[in-house]
Amino acid sequence: MAIAAEKLAMMIEENSERLLTCVHCGLCLPACPTYRALGNENDSPRGRVYLMRAVSEGRLERGDAFIHHIDLCLGCRACETACPSGVPYGHLLEAARAEVSSVKSLRGSVAESSLRFILRNVFARPLVLRAAMTMARWLRDSSLARLAFDADIFDGRLQSALALLIASRSPFAKARAEDIDLSKAEKHARVALLGGCVMEGLFAEANRATRRVLEINGCEVVEAPGQMCCGALHSHAGQREEAREMARKNIQAFDESGCELIITNAAGCGAAMKEYGDLLSDDPQWAERARALSSRVRDISEFLIERGLTPPEGRINRRVAYDAPCHLLHAQRVVEAPLAILKAIPGIELVALGGSESCCGGAGIYNLQHADLSDEILSEKIENIKASRAEVIATGNPGCIMQIGAGVLMNDLSVEVIHPIELLDAAYAKKTIQV
Ligand code: SF4
Ligand code: SF4
Repeated sequence: MAIAAEKLAMMIEENSERLLTCVHCGLCLPACPTYRALGNENDSPRGRVYLMRAVSEGRLERGDAFIHHIDLCLGCRACETACPSGVPYGHLLEAARAEVSSVKSLRGSVAESSLRFILRNVFARPLVLRAAMTMARWLRDSSLARLAFDADIFDGRLQSALALLIASRSPFAKARAEDIDLSKAEKHARVALLGGCVMEGLFAEANRATRRVLEINGCEVVEAPGQMCCGALHSHAGQREEAREMARKNIQAFDESGCELIITNAAGCGAAMKEYGDLLSDDPQWAERARALSSRVRDISEFLIERGLTPPEGRINRRVAYDAPCHLLHAQRVVEAPLAILKAIPGIELVALGGSESCCGGAGIYNLQHADLSDEILSEKIENIKASRAEVIATGNPGCIMQIGAGVLMNDLSVEVIHPIELLDAAYAKKTIQV
């Protein structure tokens, strides 16, 4: 407990100048989904920063109230975009989460021990993770998951978990640019692709599409054996030591691959890897390498737009709306590139989506841990989707695809949810996809 408290105090000390610039203006409050839903100052960014400072300065116990309000934060970082003073909320939250995790463990929380066990023994072990994902895919791709969902035999949380799993299946699996001959294509860049844990496990089609799109756009995609889960889930759950160890393994793997840049197609993973420099800043052996690696990470959309996109020739005759993943918009500040990709695809009618900058309530495993609040936040998104009259929602993060897809399924909407790169890949296939 003392060690974790020191960590929070240290983090606040490191950021004290920027923390002290919080002028309590409250501009972050309307941007915060939990404040909008609950109307409680303690569930706002300003309130949570106040709680963190009070704990680190010993004015407040690390008790139930602190744990509750930190737990309820989505980690969406919309408050960072809204804050005119540059309060580094994401970094502070990770330190607070480490504190909370430590207190819960000392109290013997079964939920916390189970989460730690899964993060350490499944997500940090590639072979075990592969086996777990194979089982999940089997459940999804057999008719079992759909039958169980339609029969509605499980309670709310299990039913939601089934909907999330079903929503991970790509709706565009048959329209792929697989037969394009790229053997004589010129190569202008040497890149490696982060496979990712959930992306490779449940969204392998999107990973294959990303690789093809990179090759069509003049890239040699090299392998990086030894790469693993980026560690974002661990950082967000307060498991910083595990996250640091995973970061070191990824730095080693990508450095050895000889790539110029590391491309990610999952907003959460990209944000985590762009922050490896911060994560390992106090490790003298790794700090410099971590900073260098972070500067070479690009989201697939920003990379393609920076380099100049090869125009696709196929048409996607659909009404499409873009929903911005929080960790792309607020953490990486990639705003226009995904929209520019969608605008470049012939046939797409791009329609506005109200609240596209606001969290869908997925937030890693938040939807399973805080199902009621997550559902309330998701319902706002679903109402906006209905109002947009979109037939397809494009969003570049696996958690968002699953959360919005689950909402679509449970509300019986005729809407497909897909990664923007799969739309681009389908357009490169030169096939026309009709409404
Ligand atoms: S917007 Fe920034 S400065 Fe204003 S209250 Fe929120 S955290 Fe403090
Ligand atoms: S990260 Fe999101 S949920 Fe948490 S305080 Fe900031 S805006 Fe609110």
